[in-house]
Amino acid sequence: MTDPLLAQLKSTFGYDTFRPLQREIIETTLAGRDVVAILPTGAGKSICYQLPALMRSGLTLVVSPLIALMKDQVDALVAAGVPATFLNSSIAPEEATRRRAGLDAGAFRLLYAAPERVMLGGFLADLRRWGVSAIAIDEAHCISEWGHDFRPEYRQLAALRRALPDVPFIAMTATATPEVRRDIADQLALAAPTIFQASFNRPNLRYLVTPKKSGTSQILEVVAARPDAAGIIYCRSRQRTEDLAAALAGAGISALAYHAGLDARTRSATQEAFIRDEVRVVCATVAFGMGIDKPDVRFVLHADLPKHLEGYYQETGRAGRDGLPSDCILLFAPGDIAQNLRFLDELPEDAAATARRQLQAMADFAESDACRRKALLEWFGEDWPHASCGACDNCAAPRERFDATVHAQKMLSCIIRIHQHSRRSVGLRHVVDVLRGSKSQKLIDLGHAELTTYGIGADTSAQAWMSIGRQLIRSGHIATSDDRWQTVSVSALGREALAARTPFSLTRPLLVEPARASSATSELACDEGLFQALRALRKSEADARSLAPYMVFGDQALRHMARTYPLDEASFLAVPGVGRQKLADYGAAFTAAVATWLAANPRLDFGPPPSPKPERSAPEETPSTVLESVALFGALRDLEAVATARGLKVATITQHLVTAIERGELDPDPRDFYAAEAEVELRQAADEHGLAALGPLHGALGGRYPYETLHLFRALQRRAQRSASSTMP
Ligand code: ADP
Ligand code: ZN
Repeated sequence: MTDPLLAQLKSTFGYDTFRPLQREIIETTLAGRDVVAILPTGAGKSICYQLPALMRSGLTLVVSPLIALMKDQVDALVAAGVPATFLNSSIAPEEATRRRAGLDAGAFRLLYAAPERVMLGGFLADLRRWGVSAIAIDEAHCISEWGHDFRPEYRQLAALRRALPDVPFIAMTATATPEVRRDIADQLALAAPTIFQASFNRPNLRYLVTPKKSGTSQILEVVAARPDAAGIIYCRSRQRTEDLAAALAGAGISALAYHAGLDARTRSATQEAFIRDEVRVVCATVAFGMGIDKPDVRFVLHADLPKHLEGYYQETGRAGRDGLPSDCILLFAPGDIAQNLRFLDELPEDAAATARRQLQAMADFAESDACRRKALLEWFGEDWPHASCGACDNCAAPRERFDATVHAQKMLSCIIRIHQHSRRSVGLRHVVDVLRGSKSQKLIDLGHAELTTYGIGADTSAQAWMSIGRQLIRSGHIATSDDRWQTVSVSALGREALAARTPFSLTRPLLVEPARASSATSELACDEGLFQALRALRKSEADARSLAPYMVFGDQALRHMARTYPLDEASFLAVPGVGRQKLADYGAAFTAAVATWLAANPRLDFGPPPSPKPERSAPEETPSTVLESVALFGALRDLEAVATARGLKVATITQHLVTAIERGELDPDPRDFYAAEAEVELRQAADEHGLAALGPLHGALGGRYPYETLHLFRALQRRAQRSASSTMP
């Protein structure tokens, strides 16, 4: 191998190829430039500063917010043969003195420290003496008040930059809205940093939304269907985490509860047990998360509806950091929306309004029949240029639609009748009660039992009616007030549809359970018996060194071993995740275990191991399907007409056009997509909310513009910006 970066990657970390952006980030920081890297969880951020630390002279300082995580990271590095250490309040004074002596002697390549240490007297002088040559800021979003995890101590890091102006910074995070990203660069006073932003898609995660049943049997089934798999179950309340953990334990599944009401000792013991594979399932509130660096979490189950999509993305993101297939399961009951809304009543009104919008987006996600991955990525402002992801419930088994014309007409006219009769606004629930002919006293007192629409929908369940109502809200036929009552009215669009007898096709409500979740797909096939034997060996080797099992080898490495049956050094070294140090420490034990296994069991044939994906893909040609849409659009100048002509969805045609605009192959007139007045409104909203994420923009515009329009608007804006900046002197 002549490539020094690849050689280092293999010999220390045991990997043969870089993940996307790793090489680019490493080369940029080694060139002495400041870097901001925004990569999703599991993308492999650590290697982006750990590997350069080994390639340059001097010490790399890593600022990390969590003491527990620091120890894990250093343990993992030492296990890979990298001289690393940490300084924080958890170590005894004699030990700290020893470590400082080591640092004075230049014995370490990486030093981890918490941000508050930076302000301790003399630390900056220490850093200069120790020859700090690079500074990595982990979880850099903690510096921003805009982020979900603001830590005031992070603000002090600017002092580092002032004290060490020539040392390159590398700031890493898995979350960054445009505000947070700007804040990171500003607060750290970075010098024209190179920004790397990876796709937030997590290809190995499967997203499933399942109708929730009451009781715990459904959750027990999900867990029991995944034997040996580590998982996190997120619950709404502390009480529920404890009840669920007890129910799981009662069913013979090792499980513990975790929430902020438990004392610090219990919490860290639970965390430790989870990381060391001593407890399989943690039932937790959202308090459980950031300190969890466990790469082999195979499922994240949301037993209750999360409050917002950001949280949902972060929490599901804790599954499958090692890149192996993992499931994200959301149990959804429409009643959860109401339950969450009730919590919001205690907030001050403007905070509550924001929270309600976020909750609405979350509920829309859960009820939508569109690709979950696409919906998530679009919320974060990313295009997902594929019709189907193949790995979410809606793509795997498209939801059935039904002719809901009569239902929609009944509901819309019922809302109109209520308004005419009482001149007052009511919530969706009340409309449903009228439709179903409820005998509630309040309804009768209001005189709503005399309406012509009273009881005309008794044959349809309340749940189905609520679902229909929410779909009509999403489609803009029903408008809702922004206050806590969320009263409903029929919009102009709704009146038009009613007058024109427009047919409605809606998604059948999620009432019946779809086909049972199959086990994770495309996992590296291997000799499962040997895999289990190697897991047991991994656990005992880890315990002997008081390490977490994943620090010895990841599941991926064990699966490779259980497929290639390495019996000698050369074949053991070929296993991804095996570097020089791991070979020296574990080669003998693991090859012996394989030999023992083969003495008693047949060798199974799985063919050659799958080749890893290349780190960089060549720039692609514009696909012919895009060109075809562009040509048709040139002739027809109407999205729907192109969609009809090609037998594709409008959304797909939109993607084609956006691609063509971005590639400079189409320069359309914006008037083909939106009127001049609309453009003014879109611009105003974009100035306020930015264009990075379309979800907030869509919400801010009250859902009046479909995502297709927003995508086209963004593409045209970006094109305009590009051509403006390229003509600047
Ligand atoms: P992040 O901090 O971005 O969530 P980590 O740095 O914890 O991600 O890496 C996630 C997992 O991916 C770890 O198990 C790590 O060893 C593995 N990994 C990182 N880079 C590579 C690579 N180039 N090839 C294979 N595995 C990798
Ligand atoms: Zn999908």
